Amino acid sequence: MGEKITKTRSAGNMISHPSPNFGDRPDGCPIDILVLHYTGMQSGADALERLCDPESSVSSHYLIEEDGRIFQLVDEGKRAWHAGLGIWQDCSDVNSNSIGIEIVNPGHEYGYRPFPEIQIKSVIDLTQDILKRHEIPASRIIAHSDMAPDRKEDPGELFPWQQLAEHGIGLWPGCHGVAEISSGISGTAASPDEFYRLLEAIGYGPADSDEDKAKRTIAFQRHWRQNDISGDVDGECIAIAKVLASAIIR
Ligand SMILES: [Zn+2]
Repeated sequence: MGEKITKTRSAGNMISHPSPNFGDRPDGCPIDILVLHYTGMQSGADALERLCDPESSVSSHYLIEEDGRIFQLVDEGKRAWHAGLGIWQDCSDVNSNSIGIEIVNPGHEYGYRPFPEIQIKSVIDLTQDILKRHEIPASRIIAHSDMAPDRKEDPGELFPWQQLAEHGIGLWPGCHGVAEISSGISGTAASPDEFYRLLEAIGYGPADSDEDKAKRTIAFQRHWRQNDISGDVDGECIAIAKVLASAIIR
């Protein structure tokens, strides 16, 4: 196929746990999106079993347990089945272009709880490793809910995106060349139409209905304005969206 064989991961605590659920990436397809998920199941063991069950037809490249252990399920050179239908920026077949990491957490259905520090350290270590192997722009390191806001809420509003950005992972105001939010701007009048245009500039798929718009707004808030995920557009959301959109070079 002419593609390079992906080298063995360098992280010391990597556990090989192969899943049969994968396919080939299309020829010449770049790996330039990273999708972070939570497992949304009662236990990490349940999730690992499901992601490796041929009947389930789902998988991810990696799973990270709450105790920080990292399992590799699918080789990075292969196309894992984690993202499903959705859109991010110019990409409408996210599985082909992406690496998927499942992060163990019961999720909103089974008792959503904070991600332990040791687990987040593994997320950061693994992601920094992945970024050495693949050129993934900061604006393409996303939540599952960002590319599929109509049907997904993971990894959710407790996921520490700011902490990741402080380690060079993803977009965040004030981190790695992204402008700060200027003080006072959150009091400016909100123009929802402007906000929805900014969402598309950041990468969210187009919204046709008011319901679509609200779901995209909530997805944005779960990622970038986590203390208020009302789905209502306010000045702070617009200020954050402006800064993010202006940092994206395509
Ligand atoms: Zn997911």
